[in-house]
Amino acid sequence: MKRLEDKILSEGIALNEQVLKVDSFLNHQVDPKLMQDIGQEFARRFRDNGATKVLTIESSGIAPAIFAALELDVPLIFAKKQKSITLTDELIVEPVYSFTKQMTSHVAVSRKFLNSEDRILIIDDFLANGEAALGLGKIVEKTGASVVGIGIVIEKSFQPGRDKLIEAGYQVESLARIKALAKDNISFVEKGE
Ligand code: 5GP
Repeated sequence: MKRLEDKILSEGIALNEQVLKVDSFLNHQVDPKLMQDIGQEFARRFRDNGATKVLTIESSGIAPAIFAALELDVPLIFAKKQKSITLTDELIVEPVYSFTKQMTSHVAVSRKFLNSEDRILIIDDFLANGEAALGLGKIVEKTGASVVGIGIVIEKSFQPGRDKLIEAGYQVESLARIKALAKDNISFVEKGE
């Protein structure tokens, strides 16, 4: 998605060869117009998959996922990373190792929002090693529901996440695919590459 790639080139900061900082439009401050375009693009790519709900993980997945859910006209569920005293329902929990925080958190979704007939579109902000998306996929499958696709805003294609998700049988659509990261030099996977 050209507009997203341009934004990454103008505002993204490669902290090192592995980590991209995009806190001016996605991870701290949020660009709502860009998120709306992203939601429309996800909806265009997944419209025929028959999703009944969108599932993401708090907090940075929520902005793009809400616009995808709006476009597809389905509810959005965001998995919780922190236990809360208001979370009194039966929970489905999966350990997920965080690439950026370098720790495992227990990601939870209330059973009452997922049922066996649901067809779930998973959306996340980044794809690195695939831990978050695979964890969400496991939560969905524990309820008997199915995953109908995984939409990623920024995929780091030099890391193994995409291959792991494809191997697990998922359709993966990433709106920007980063081939290599270096200070002042971010390159993208070309179409057909
Ligand atoms: P994975 O689970 O695929 O290993 O990593 C994806 C998760 O880690 C995303 O939910 C995102 O929050 C975080 N993440 C991974 N790589 C990056 C990165 O380069 N920059 C930022 N800002 N977050 C990342």
